[in-house]
Amino acid sequence: MTIAANIQQVKQTIMSACADAGRQDKVTLVAVTKYHTVAEAQAVFAAGVTQLAENRMPGLLEKQTALPDPKIDWHFIGHLQRRKVKKVINNIAYLHSLDRLDLAKEIEKRAVQPVKCFVEVNVSGEASKDGVALADVAPFIKKLATFSKIKVVGLMTMAPIDADDPTLHQLFKQLRQKRDQIAALHLPYAPCHELSMGMSRDYRIAVLEGATFVRIGTALFR
Ligand SMILES: *Cc1c(COP(=O)(O)O)cnc(C)c1O
Repeated sequence: MTIAANIQQVKQTIMSACADAGRQDKVTLVAVTKYHTVAEAQAVFAAGVTQLAENRMPGLLEKQTALPDPKIDWHFIGHLQRRKVKKVINNIAYLHSLDRLDLAKEIEKRAVQPVKCFVEVNVSGEASKDGVALADVAPFIKKLATFSKIKVVGLMTMAPIDADDPTLHQLFKQLRQKRDQIAALHLPYAPCHELSMGMSRDYRIAVLEGATFVRIGTALFR
């Protein structure tokens, strides 16, 4: 199938999941181009997707240079090393991987304006994964109160690749409940209305559980 047809199919799946869940709010499709060429990223944009994501600095800079259109919002979704913050942070619309205080400090130092960040949460507790533990999310976000350059727009997670459907429902639901808890604190720097969850394998379940941003790579390019 073509990229445009894949995009249509993913959008259909999102719409049907929203209908099944009785949702009327919006789900933003973020296209993950990390394993794909500039030409493929251009095809995604040409098909009408304006939210593009990369997980490493070189890939981000390469795609941004090739696609300088101001209509594109760039999302950084990978582990961000402190020494790379300077080159990345002022060129993106969203950071999906705020996961530690020393990263927040570096962003505070390097950003010229507030950055929309998702706090990455390790809901499943896998040792190999980045992210703040579920129990540490509220204390972590409270520590960000003095950071003028960080705006916590929501929470992000990645589910384990081998999780079955009931487990996926449960993990995504736990993130949604945590999001609701944080939003209820009404912190001015952490409105926390958004949920970045769902990848090619599991986005239908993520949308059923309330995802407002899905990050899709593989399903757009097969
Ligand atoms: C690669 C990646 C995705 C997309 O994964 P697919 O399975 O290709 O859809 C989403 N989120 C993050 C953080 C990623 O690294």
